Amino acid sequence: MRLAGLTLQGFKSFADKTEFAFDDAVTGIVGPNGCGKSNVVDAIKWVLGERSSKSLRGKEMIDVIFAGSAGRSPSGMASVMLTFHNPVLDEGAEAEDILQGQTEEFADDDATEEEAERVRADRRRRGLPIEADEVQVERRLHRDGTSQYLINGKKARLRDIRDLFLDTGIGADAYSIIEQGKVDRMLLASPQERRGILEEAAGIAKYRQRRVEAQRKLDRSQDNLRSLRDNLESTERRLRIVKGQAAKARQFQALDAEYKANRLALAFDQYDELRQRLDGLTSRLNKLSEERDEAQRALAAVEHEKQEAELARHDAVEARRAIDAERQAAAHAAEAAAQRIEMAERSIAELSERMEADQRRAAELESGASAC
Ligand code: ATP
Repeated sequence: MRLAGLTLQGFKSFADKTEFAFDDAVTGIVGPNGCGKSNVVDAIKWVLGERSSKSLRGKEMIDVIFAGSAGRSPSGMASVMLTFHNPVLDEGAEAEDILQGQTEEFADDDATEEEAERVRADRRRRGLPIEADEVQVERRLHRDGTSQYLINGKKARLRDIRDLFLDTGIGADAYSIIEQGKVDRMLLASPQERRGILEEAAGIAKYRQRRVEAQRKLDRSQDNLRSLRDNLESTERRLRIVKGQAAKARQFQALDAEYKANRLALAFDQYDELRQRLDGLTSRLNKLSEERDEAQRALAAVEHEKQEAELARHDAVEARRAIDAERQAAAHAAEAAAQRIEMAERSIAELSERMEADQRRAAELESGASAC
């Protein structure tokens, strides 16, 4: 595996697309002060995932985008791409050993399916664990702050870039990039920092990293185990409760069935009793209907008689009224006759008195005439 090329566009002083081809022989970049040599190193660090703008000699990350010059307007995007040759390594004993070591490691390490798949994919061992003869890693940054990593043209995460170069000595902080002042820093580094550099060079970092990841997984598994135990306890508690509820439910079902059977028997008894009562009532109803018809017939006869009696009474009232009128007329006639009798008697009495008076005068006159 070997660095084959570097392509920059819109990155710092490289406004135009600029390609560096690194041939087999030793390559050096020379130039006067300020011509952009350090910008090349910055570009390599940046594409490998450098996140400190200070380390790239800027204030903020968008400072890496070409800021414009007297005759040229600023770029909208910075892009840096590294190209690696990634041939198949010797498939002899060394590669087999590596593969064997990895297989055992994953077998012990509760490897995920993804990791196992990766080992299978690495069967034809290459410097970079990607099944391609050429690997291109690209980083892009737009002026609006959006950025992308790409591996062979496909979107990737920073973590994918870091995993890709693990233990290759390539990386933003790795020993393969020794920029201005870094030799001094390495000589003055603390034993711990120096150990980190040496471990990276010796290829131990990969295992250290995996140990950290394994430890993290172990911690996560222990957390999961703890929460599973808690869940188990609460599930057991719930199971006990549910068992009690199930026993109650079974008892309820038995009692309910008994209740339903009793209710059915009672309903049958009630049905029979009601049926008998209904039969009795039906025959009584028939009898009463007959009696009612009889009574209606009798009532009709009585009604008829009553109507006839009414007519007779009406005739009698009429007759009595006629008799009363006759009686009244007779009374008037009797009264008039009595008055006439009384007047006649009074006339007779008067005439009698007058006749007596006439008779006396006549007698007197006769006696007077005889005396003469
Ligand atoms: P030295 O040998 O002094 O370290 P050098 O050759 O490494 O110099 P660099 O420091 O890489 O040069 O380049 C500095 C140049 O890059 C300066 O001219 C600066 O104006 C230019 N530069 C840096 N950032 C940008 C940017 N964002 N846009 C345009 N030009 C930039």
